[in-house]
Amino acid sequence: MERIPIYRPVFDYREKAQLVDCVDKEWLTGGVKVKEFEQKIANLCNVKYGVACSNGTIALYLGLLALDIGVGDEVIVPDFTFIASANAVTWTGARPVFCDIDPKTLNMDVKSVESKITAQTVAVMPVHIYGKACDMLPLMGLAKRYKLKVIEDACQGIGVTYKFEPVGGYGEVGAMSFYADKTLTTGEGGMVLTNDKDIARRCLVLKHQGRTGRGWYVHDEIGYNFRMTDLQAGVGLAQLDKLPEIISSKQRHNQLYHEKLSKFMLDFSSEDIPFRHNVFVDDPDGLIKYLDQNGIDAKRVFYPLHRQPCYNVGGNFPNTEFAYAHGVSLPSSPLLTYEQISYICGCVNAYEGVL
Ligand SMILES: *Cc1c(COP(=O)(O)O)cnc(C)c1O
Repeated sequence: MERIPIYRPVFDYREKAQLVDCVDKEWLTGGVKVKEFEQKIANLCNVKYGVACSNGTIALYLGLLALDIGVGDEVIVPDFTFIASANAVTWTGARPVFCDIDPKTLNMDVKSVESKITAQTVAVMPVHIYGKACDMLPLMGLAKRYKLKVIEDACQGIGVTYKFEPVGGYGEVGAMSFYADKTLTTGEGGMVLTNDKDIARRCLVLKHQGRTGRGWYVHDEIGYNFRMTDLQAGVGLAQLDKLPEIISSKQRHNQLYHEKLSKFMLDFSSEDIPFRHNVFVDDPDGLIKYLDQNGIDAKRVFYPLHRQPCYNVGGNFPNTEFAYAHGVSLPSSPLLTYEQISYICGCVNAYEGVL
């Protein structure tokens, strides 16, 4: 059997046709395809504005800057997430303050968030981790009570809903990533989501060298170049066409994994769109090695941010420690076959001594 990689995107003639179209029409960057992609993603996420940019990290960064978050401010970030969530805060000059997670969902725990609020806290960043929505209702209530801004890291959450409403539109700002292994990919790419016209405009100005359009050289402020190319947006449009199929494959695969590995997996809801299929076992490194010997790629889950060599702030985070100590991400491509998933589950059960 061929090796089973942890992820493969769903690419076919449609991505190729979009790229050929860009070459033929000489649409390179910041043009027609980017506008169409922005509108379609904004519609999908049920927000008024989408501002395309270079990647998800930059989408978070632009969103934070547009909310005037910077030096002297604190933003509460879950201890269990991809490091970009915290880095985007750090690059604004503000300080990410880590909170613990709910062990049943791996998302930020609202009580832990509340315990981290200080006079410097200006915002909170829920991350819809592994394609499961944060419990937004109590979180939005908390944010309102303490007058905190909400920046949603929806980088793993395209299409995910919470109480039937897409994630990314709950907070003042949401951020999407279209990185190579995300549910919808453009290779690299990201988008700021917002319902606020001023925030959208500010992100546009910042990503575009401090002006709103091209063709003139008068710059009102010191911006940056964080644009997305039309070639990327074209690939994104092709991916959007088949997003329903990608999502239903991921959800079907999740069901299959759960049927065979339920004792190692967390409960899921029909609103989840798994970014990874994770199991929790006693010896993650041993399992990963065994799977590798059997032609299957797997990897550890996110490393607690408070322990990262580049942050190393200490503190007590029992639930993120537990998740890291036991979690393993199994192959999660929408292209997996029924036979491959059965084989992977068979190997996990064999290693764990389940007959
Ligand atoms: C992928 C990801 C990001 C960053 O997105 P990039 O496009 O890789 O910059 C941020 N947060 C989370 C939770 C992610 O998964």
